Order: sequence, then C-alpha cells, then structure tokens
Amino acid sequence: MDYAIHIGGVAAGKSEYEFEVKGELFREFGNTQVLDADIVVKAVLEKGSGWMNLVCAGSGTVVVECDRCLEELELPIAFESNLAIRPAKLGEEPEVSDEFIVVDPSEAEVDIKQFIYDTICVNIPLKRVHRQGDCNPQMEERLKKLRAEDGKGQEDSDTYSPFSALKDLLGGENHRDN
Ligand SMILES: [Zn+2]
Repeated sequence: MDYAIHIGGVAAGKSEYEFEVKGELFREFGNTQVLDADIVVKAVLEKGSGWMNLVCAGSGTVVVECDRCLEELELPIAFESNLAIRPAKLGEEPEVSDEFIVVDPSEAEVDIKQFIYDTICVNIPLKRVHRQGDCNPQMEERLKKLRAEDGKGQEDSDTYSPFSALKDLLGGENHRDN
C-alpha cells in the first residue's frame, strides 16, 4: 500500500504521515486531464476511545491543459479534508465514502489512496486558463479558427458547466462533448 495508515494497535493520540503525490497517481486512475502533479499531503490520525479521525491537508501544484490554448498550465492546489475511520460493528459490512471508512476490525492498515485521489480531484480549480497574455498566441489563433469552423464559436464557454468538469475529473475521462 502506497497510502497506508496504520490503525491496528495504535495508541490513543495523534500519529502523523506524509505522502507525496505525483502524476503517476492520476495515470493509475486513468485520469488524462491531470498531466502531472507535485503535492505533499500531510495526514494526521487522531485516535480516541472507539473513534478515529484522519485530517488530510495537501498543497502543491497540478499540471492540466489550458482550456484556451491547450498548452500545459500549472495550477496551485491546497485543500484540507476529514475522514472518519471506525471499525465495523458485528455483522456490518466494511464501507467507504467521501466522509468515512468503516473497516474490518481485524485490519491493521487502511489504504487512503482513493480518498486522496478523490479529494485532490474535487479541489482542482475549475477555471483552467493561463493568465491573460500567457497563452500560446499561435495555438489560440488556430483553435479560435477551428472552433469558428465548427460553428460553436464562443458559445463553448457557456455550455461548459462546472458539474461536467467535475464528472470528467472523477470519471477520469472526457465526456465534455456529451
Ligand atoms: Zn493557455
């Protein structure tokens, strides 16, 4: 496990972890929108009696494609997210959601890879364009012409909803043209 948190036999109190997230994680999930990443995630597991809470704080950069000129664009990213971890009760199935993980009580470790991936994805800024003047001018010009020929023109930006962008990210595939 690359993103393992030890939960078995952990003493009450806090234990700290640090994970480095690179572009490989996104390739592993088939995400073609994130071209590269350099993010440090600090995770603090706090254990009380009968409960565990994990706070993940990440900061760094992701490289995506600029929506205007299609060249690489580096975006800063910072987030903090909470995950409650608790052992399953008798007869209860292990379960994973955005906010909690129910683990088999015999498990010594829990893998938070999916949680880290999802958390980063929902925190990538939806506006993905270079600052005014920073786009590749030739590319921008060519794309403008192509879009005009397509008959879409400027309407493109109106049909582009944050929700579809989010779905793209989580699905790891481009469904924007649906
Ligand atoms: Zn650009």
